[in-house]
Amino acid sequence: MEVRDNQAEELVRNNIILASVEKVLNYARAHSFWPVTFGLACCAIEMMAAGGPRYDISRFGYEVFRPSPRQADLMIVAGTITKKMAPLVQRIYDQMAEPKYVIAMGSCAISGGPFVDSYNVVPGADTFLPVDVYIPGCPPRPEALIYGLLQLRQKVINPKVVRMRKHG
Ligand code: SF4
Repeated sequence: MEVRDNQAEELVRNNIILASVEKVLNYARAHSFWPVTFGLACCAIEMMAAGGPRYDISRFGYEVFRPSPRQADLMIVAGTITKKMAPLVQRIYDQMAEPKYVIAMGSCAISGGPFVDSYNVVPGADTFLPVDVYIPGCPPRPEALIYGLLQLRQKVINPKVVRMRKHG
């Protein structure tokens, strides 16, 4: 069958997508985060609820919580970070594979929350980690976590969005 020039152009336009490998990889990453399994305080209960059947985080492809940081690319800091715990959180982050992302879930992870004046609480995960998304609340509900994950998805698909860092 003879294909005319304009038909060929239309075929190409409708059937070929040009993109960089990085763009394709980011699209895949953004639809399949592997969060590291750990929680620090009450906010972690809401994170666990998000993984249950009622909120069903697997609808979005984010249900593969990994017990090893080496298999994870997302850290959800859910709860109060004590000064004693902070070096361990940092170590878990350091062991995660690149590229990796951080969500600060709840007021404690954002700023120390109700314990901001405590002698033993770190005033926010972003004092030592590069936080990508902040989810306010005490605690945020599972829907808020899902919304935060979808915001992270947009950020990973469009890396031109500037990474917000308070320090470093
Ligand atoms: S933000 Fe509130 S619910 Fe979350 S860990 Fe802190 S005190 Fe608990």
